[in-house]
Amino acid sequence: MNKCGKLISVAEMSDFERGTGMKRVVTMLLSLALFGVVLTATACRSSSFSESSRTGFALDTVVSITIYEAQGDVDGEVVLDTCFAEIQRLEKLFSATIAGSDISRINAAMGAPVVVAEETAELLQLSLQYAELSDGAFDITLRPVTTLWDFSGDPPSLPDKTLLAEAVSMVDYRHLTVSGTTVTLTEGALDLGGIAKGFIADRLRDVLLANGVTSALIDLGGNIVVIGDKQGDVWRIGVKDPLNAERLRAIISGKELSVVTSGVYERGFTLDGVRYHHLLSPETGMPVQNGLASVTIVCESSVQADALSTACFVLGESRAMALLSELDDVEALFIRIDGTVSATDGLVYTLQ
Ligand code: ADP
Ligand code: MG
Repeated sequence: MNKCGKLISVAEMSDFERGTGMKRVVTMLLSLALFGVVLTATACRSSSFSESSRTGFALDTVVSITIYEAQGDVDGEVVLDTCFAEIQRLEKLFSATIAGSDISRINAAMGAPVVVAEETAELLQLSLQYAELSDGAFDITLRPVTTLWDFSGDPPSLPDKTLLAEAVSMVDYRHLTVSGTTVTLTEGALDLGGIAKGFIADRLRDVLLANGVTSALIDLGGNIVVIGDKQGDVWRIGVKDPLNAERLRAIISGKELSVVTSGVYERGFTLDGVRYHHLLSPETGMPVQNGLASVTIVCESSVQADALSTACFVLGESRAMALLSELDDVEALFIRIDGTVSATDGLVYTLQ
């Protein structure tokens, strides 16, 4: 059977919904379906490779990988097995909530040195680079603050002010040192939520390329990487409208790229007319209110796109633009809470 063009069907979505009953997962699947509409709009190119796709729940989100084309004798299902095993392996290193993960061990070490896997050391080094580049707007030592926020609480509530001030005083990426694979964190605790998915998406691209894949889509809860082209055409990747996340606001076109968005709609609640969301100021511990509703970064490296999307959101539009102007081959789309949009000069996109 030619499965070309199949991504997430509405039928699959309903099954998943029935199976879990989780509101957030359903919302994420709905958004995947939205991406599906856009991404399947192009025609199929005949190939001996039979398209393979898999969707699962990992990294606290819905993850989906679709292989469209591959060279040589490739069994798509086996490659997908390898990819999902890799996601699990890396999640067990990077999660702050899985006991015994590298990050949990660092957080529990009370300042003592901890030997970690090479991947963890690499990701922490990259995190420090983005912390410096953004002048601390991106800071992975934020966990004392993030644990005080419960974005799914019903009814929602704000953290205690004294506890928040105490937590903020512990946040500083300079408390973290990485020497080879030895990591020391003198104060606070690590949260890689703003960068780990991008790092893992890059690793998955490496796995796919090493297995002869020439066209594929990796979607880790909206953290997108595309390999090659889409059946001879450019990829078209939807950017959600942060003011109404069931609709698209823009479509970004291109090949061989990663597209990552940080927005107010992902995790958060509205209380007394104020939107409290998960993009937090390391200086105040509060959700950043700077007129932005989302920032989308488009570049080749997904770890760069992920870290920069969070960093640029926290920096705000003008400081983010200044930072981006120093970087090569990185484009961005800013959507403001008043619904207006701006983008860097090189971004190829259309508004919806
Ligand atoms: P998503 O998790 O929706 O993909 P992001 O990549 O922007 O979105 O990551 C947001 C997560 O990053 C938050 O849930 C939190 O764990 C962490 N985070 C929040 N604010 C910051 C910050 N200023 N610096 C680094 N990480 C942050
Ligand atoms: Mg990010």
